[in-house]
Amino acid sequence: MMKLHLSEVQLCSLSKYSIKLAYSQLVSPSGNKMYWANAIWCKLAQPKHRFISWLAVLERLSTKDRLKLFGVSVDDLCLLCGVEVENHSHLFFGCQYSSRCWEQIAGFLQINTSIRSLPQLIKWIHRRKFTKFRKGVLFTFAWCLVYHGKMEDASALKSFATLSRGAIFAKSDASSRARGGRHHQNYGNG
Ligand SMILES: [Zn+2]
Repeated sequence: MMKLHLSEVQLCSLSKYSIKLAYSQLVSPSGNKMYWANAIWCKLAQPKHRFISWLAVLERLSTKDRLKLFGVSVDDLCLLCGVEVENHSHLFFGCQYSSRCWEQIAGFLQINTSIRSLPQLIKWIHRRKFTKFRKGVLFTFAWCLVYHGKMEDASALKSFATLSRGAIFAKSDASSRARGGRHHQNYGNG
């Protein structure tokens, strides 16, 4: 079961087999302080968004490069652009379609648009002097994007990527109101 989540190298690096050690490798492969845990498990975000984002940060999603590596698929080309290999970095930041969505939303939220990885994004938000609520809102948007980047079908994502920034947020606003508008607040005021 652990082999589904940890590589053989990670498993072999454990000094002895124990669930506790394996779990710590799973949640923090580098052994560094888990400063991003609070970011991932932020309460504003939907549980399914948090879970997919957790796997995405650990690069454990079933991207096509991994499926090919495991012999599940013979093709590793990105489902969106069909040109480059679909790995975590490409799926969320490198692909022309996801990159367009990311730049529109990062620009609106005033996040550094040159960020090109999820750990980099977490670190950037973590280091800002924002209130806890504002950081939570930024992470909520980010995890929503990660979820839809992985779970939506290709045609829906492509059409989303061609929307203007205003249209993207009109959709996001309608979705928020449909959920009760609980978190519909001006994040910009801190
Ligand atoms: Zn692509």
